[in-house]
Amino acid sequence: MRAIPDSIAGYRTMKLSPAVTSLKPSATIAAAAKAKALKSQGVTVYDFTLGEPDFNTPEHIQEAARAAMQAGHTHYTASGGIPELKKAICSAFEREQGLHYEPNQVVVSNGAKHSIHNVLTALCGPGDEVIIPAPYWVSYKSLVELAGATPVIVETTEASGFRLTAEQFERAITPRTKLLLLNSPCNPTGAVFSTQQLEDLARVAVKHNLFVCSDEIYDKLLYTDEPFKSFATLLGGIANRTIIINGVSKAYAMTGWRIGWTLAPVALTAAMDNLQSQETSNPCSISQYAALAALSGPQDCVATMRQEFARRREYTLGRIRELPQVSIPEPGGAFYAFFNVSRHFGRPLGKGTVVNNSTEFCTALLEQSHVALVSGDAFGAPGYVRMSFATGRPILEAGFDHLAAFLSGKSA
Ligand code: PMP
Ligand code: GLU
Repeated sequence: MRAIPDSIAGYRTMKLSPAVTSLKPSATIAAAAKAKALKSQGVTVYDFTLGEPDFNTPEHIQEAARAAMQAGHTHYTASGGIPELKKAICSAFEREQGLHYEPNQVVVSNGAKHSIHNVLTALCGPGDEVIIPAPYWVSYKSLVELAGATPVIVETTEASGFRLTAEQFERAITPRTKLLLLNSPCNPTGAVFSTQQLEDLARVAVKHNLFVCSDEIYDKLLYTDEPFKSFATLLGGIANRTIIINGVSKAYAMTGWRIGWTLAPVALTAAMDNLQSQETSNPCSISQYAALAALSGPQDCVATMRQEFARRREYTLGRIRELPQVSIPEPGGAFYAFFNVSRHFGRPLGKGTVVNNSTEFCTALLEQSHVALVSGDAFGAPGYVRMSFATGRPILEAGFDHLAAFLSGKSA
């Protein structure tokens, strides 16, 4: 048998493009892979890396997928999604936010991550700047760079609850600014903007004639008193410069099904539909029927899962507040705790290891105490770590015991 050479060096035509050469893997997915690799060696790992519900997809949604296959919905669909799902997305948005969209303003994609890629590719190019408040979700910066545009990172502080202010937004604007990429509730901080704070940002966007891409994937995972308000509903007229990102991954425990969408102005929607028809043809037909059942079926599963996340959040916050020399602004939404561990740098932890940054902290914590977190460095926030509490209570309890021991100079 002839071996296939595993090196592409020397093949001029196989030289990788500059865009992918500088592309780093998603830090969240890489951290999860590291935890999995340790698990595969038989080690018990307390894994808080990935932001995905640990629940299985509700039964009635699974049943809709089985029925779709039996009904022969196993073919290509319209590139931007089946009309029934687009209609259901518009109806759900109108029901929840009181704002009417038409199906020609919807593109259904292979997850919200893909939707963000579509927006950035269709709207931005070399010379354009995209404002991203830090801490930011790991993929934002890379997706902007993949589109050839320039990310402009604006740092927010723990003292402000990690919320971008209107003044900060306005100061970051240049003649090249195209877009603000906003995420409330936020991954990784859990920060939720008040309606007043969102309106202040919206006024700046109107004044400077800018688009705002509002990633609302955590809209149903809110622990504050104020109900969720979509950016598109602000000021009674911001919708024509808002691009909404959403999907079924988080609210319906459907991360593996890969369905997300955009609600956007018609011309941009048409451009994204074209792009998608060339890049991926269409999102998975069966998943689209499952998402249709999720949006148009009973919603009590969403509330039940949210309640469980709320209980885990309470527990998580209680345990973090007991940790020595650690601080955390209260997360109002999503399922992440983002806390400051920088006061532990430069002193012995675990088995006596001294760490100097969040990445070293996470590495030592995983290797010595088998607790897996994601380094704040990946989110543009050195000194912090992210813990996803979308995981069962026994794992949370044991994980915190190990983390506490590590911080006090012991290890499992
Ligand atoms: N936006 C944010 C803020 C996220 O945390 C994620 C992670 N899932 C996504 C978008 C992408 O979600 P999806 O699984 O639908 O691609
Ligand atoms: N969004 C989740 C997270 O931040 C899933 C992984 C990813 O897509 O980055 O952990």
